[in-house]
Amino acid sequence: MKLYNTMSKTKEEFVPLEEGKVKMYVCGPTVYNFIHIGNARPMIVFDTVRRYFEYKGYDVNFVSNFTDVDDKIIKKANEEGVTAEEISKRYIEECKKDMEGMNVKPATKNPLATEEIGGMIDMIQTLIDKGYAYEKNGTVYYRTRKFEGYGKLSHKNLDDLQSGGRSLLVTGEDEKEDSLDFVLWKPKKEGEPAWESPWSEGRPGWHIECSEMSKKYLGEQIDIHAGGEDLIFPHHENEIAQSEAANGKDFSKYWLHNGFLNIDNRKMSKSLGNFFTVREIGEKYDLQVLRFFMLSAHYRSPLNFSAELMEAAKNGLERIVTAAEHLKFLLEGAKTENMTEKEQAKIVKSQEFTRKFEKAMDDDFNTADAIAAVFDLVKFINTNTDGESSKEYLQNLLSQLVALTDVLGIIVEKEQEMLADDIEALIAERQAARKERNFARADEIRDELLAKGIILEDTREGVKWKRA
Ligand code: AMP
Ligand code: ZN
Repeated sequence: MKLYNTMSKTKEEFVPLEEGKVKMYVCGPTVYNFIHIGNARPMIVFDTVRRYFEYKGYDVNFVSNFTDVDDKIIKKANEEGVTAEEISKRYIEECKKDMEGMNVKPATKNPLATEEIGGMIDMIQTLIDKGYAYEKNGTVYYRTRKFEGYGKLSHKNLDDLQSGGRSLLVTGEDEKEDSLDFVLWKPKKEGEPAWESPWSEGRPGWHIECSEMSKKYLGEQIDIHAGGEDLIFPHHENEIAQSEAANGKDFSKYWLHNGFLNIDNRKMSKSLGNFFTVREIGEKYDLQVLRFFMLSAHYRSPLNFSAELMEAAKNGLERIVTAAEHLKFLLEGAKTENMTEKEQAKIVKSQEFTRKFEKAMDDDFNTADAIAAVFDLVKFINTNTDGESSKEYLQNLLSQLVALTDVLGIIVEKEQEMLADDIEALIAERQAARKERNFARADEIRDELLAKGIILEDTREGVKWKRA
């Protein structure tokens, strides 16, 4: 299995630090608004990377943070006259809903920056003790030139950075020893959330957050660190400088970066007005379509979002789901149990598509080619099954299709509708709970039914229910 490592600029064979295990950290969003479809791209592609490792039998420890302290969050909180915490909590919840809609698996852990400040302070102190950081008037800076490998990820040269940096030096930062130095801790300004530290009451810089959270939840050395390509510099370069200087070890073995999502061939931005939130797309399409669209391109290529491409994704997805439904329909009516010899030979042929899928995914997660293999399997299913097919044969084809679409995070099996008897039983249990004044249980049952699309109505004739 090969993956493209931004650090070496080549496709490398994946060798885990620990056999059978993958430790993976993906930089998560800053939560000050609904996530946009650009933010959705790393979520979907790295969830697919995770799913493929799991398909291959790896045990994946997947950590992805929420940046819940940041200038943009504070600005939004001031605009609304609420606390920064209220803003971040609100949009974390909304983000999780979008992720569920896109069938992104919950992370093993979603650390919040604001809950890890103590560890960040310790890491900054270690950097000061080792001579990699210094304090000036309550601000702590990282001494960039002290770290020998600086620039190794982004392939930037310190002197080029320096000449660019001078003109960028912001007022207030002229106390830095060097224009290349970056902030690890900054004192608070009026009305900002702040924490006590040995240097000032203030808050951490953005880069130290990820260094600390990946160390705490995955250890000093990890297999994969990932995010959008805009994070290569300075964010990931700075994370490497911090983590490797503090821990004295190489940080991540592989660095994966997704390409950008554009809209109508232009950079997606709020100011250009060509900007969509996942929520907006969800009003028009099932978010499975958005997921399928994202995976139609290689994760490192730029991807253009347009109405035509979304329609194409919708049609493609429908073809796959229809093939699965066709198999299930045939399975219900199938008369013979076991495969015939002819069917066995056909299964051998169909397995070529699974191998083609794996070959594509083994080549730096080429989901575009992997999807082509799924379509090959779909075509095979449509032309090689009928009312005479055996159960075993149909089930084998369905299992293959589901295994592959599972890797892509595409759901082809609709959840079974709840049976009327089961609904009635739950309603009876709810009535009993109410009688015992166990309202918590009664509400729980109502919510459970609602989640399955069953709406309850208390009427004079008793409780009635309907499907949403
Ligand atoms: P942010 O909230 O800006 O820190 O972004 C969260 C994640 O979304 C990062 O991994 C970014 O690189 C990624 N990202 C932001 N905009 C885009 C875009 N237009 N296309 C692809 N990835 C993006
Ligand atoms: Zn990060």
